[in-house]
Formats: sequence, structure tokens, C-alpha cells
Amino acid sequence: MCPWCGSDEVRLVQRGFTGPTDERDQYIACHGCKRLTYEIVSRSAREMRLGQYRTGGTYRDSLRQTKYDILRVLRVGSNEVLLYVKPIIRQSASLRAETPRRGRF
Ligand SMILES: [Zn+2]
Repeated sequence: MCPWCGSDEVRLVQRGFTGPTDERDQYIACHGCKRLTYEIVSRSAREMRLGQYRTGGTYRDSLRQTKYDILRVLRVGSNEVLLYVKPIIRQSASLRAETPRRGRF
């Protein structure tokens, strides 16, 4: 179920842990509001330093104007770190988001 609009018209895109898909993030795509809800975000070691991501911190999806709590930070390789995130839902923000605004960006 989409945490932003409540629609159950969603599709889970799983991170490709072992190969056939090169999807690096894991997220829920909503057909209702067209938002993505990340569950796992992949970042390089360099992006980690720049973003100063840490457990208990905040991950911002500036493209979609959404914010997440960072639940866990897991290093999986020499140059890859996974952020396990949970969306921060603000009721007023999600209500405003139901009215599409074009040409804003
Ligand atoms: Zn939605």
C-alpha cells in the first residue's frame, strides 16, 4: 500500500541482490500518485561522505520532495552502502501532494 496516498495499486521493485536485474534500489511504485517509496537506497562510499547519511538521520529524495528516516546503514562492498529507510509522512504534505502541480521544476 502506498504510504503517500493510500492506494493499493502498487508494484514492488526489488533490489537485484544476485544478478539478473541491475536494480540497485528497492522501492514501491504507486500507480495512483506516481510516487516512488524507497525501502532500500544504494549509495557509493563517496555519496555517503557527501550526504553524511547515518542511522537515525534523514534521507531526502529532493526529486520527489519526500523525506525518510534512515533505519539502518549497511556496507555491502568496497564502494557500496545500503540505506534502509522509512518514509516520513506528514498529513498536510500528503494532502497537498494530491493536487498535481505542473511546471514547478
Ligand atoms: Zn500513491
